[in-house]
Amino acid sequence: MTTNNDHYNEAELLASYFPETANNSELLQQKLTDVQQIEQALQTLMALCGQDDNNPDLDKTPFRVVKAFLEYTSGYREDPTAHLEKVFDIQQNDPIIVKDIEFYSMCEHHFAPFFGVAHVAYLPDQKVTGLSKIARVVEGYARRFQVQERLTNQIADAIDTVLQPKGVMVAIEAKHLCVSSRGAKKEQAQTFTLASRGAYIKDSQLRSEFMTAIK
Ligand SMILES: [Zn+2]
Repeated sequence: MTTNNDHYNEAELLASYFPETANNSELLQQKLTDVQQIEQALQTLMALCGQDDNNPDLDKTPFRVVKAFLEYTSGYREDPTAHLEKVFDIQQNDPIIVKDIEFYSMCEHHFAPFFGVAHVAYLPDQKVTGLSKIARVVEGYARRFQVQERLTNQIADAIDTVLQPKGVMVAIEAKHLCVSSRGAKKEQAQTFTLASRGAYIKDSQLRSEFMTAIK
């Protein structure tokens, strides 16, 4: 099936993901060479896997894969902590909990997606950020080659460093396609990870309040 995306070419793709190539023809040429080499390697991978019937529908698949990977990894090209710089002067003595933040990430060991929800709580000291900013931090770290444990800690550290709250706690529930669709093939297995900072490390009341809220 032909879609509009098929008319999008390598140079346009690079211009949208690497705006710095607009004024740097050497860099543009280098990245074009990279993309072409990846496309060739993907053709080889497809052949190795047994896909060798010259199906014209697959001609653009290597290009689509490169494009998808640039999207999966857009977090490398931003600083997620920057979202938290916008703070409000609000008196808030109790925790702020944002739950069920959906995310999609990519297992760095198998390049297989893992996805689920993140729940974030922080007990502000003086700085309160916008609720959508927490979701943007999750997105900025999820859109990279990741492991769930690191993702959980990076979100906690970003909030801890920029907002300097009294405490932070992050929980992530995710399904890993590398676990459910290959290897151990445990379709229903979910991984739950936690990261806590400050008051959330030892205050059992704060912890249980958070765990109850995200149930
Ligand atoms: Zn994996």
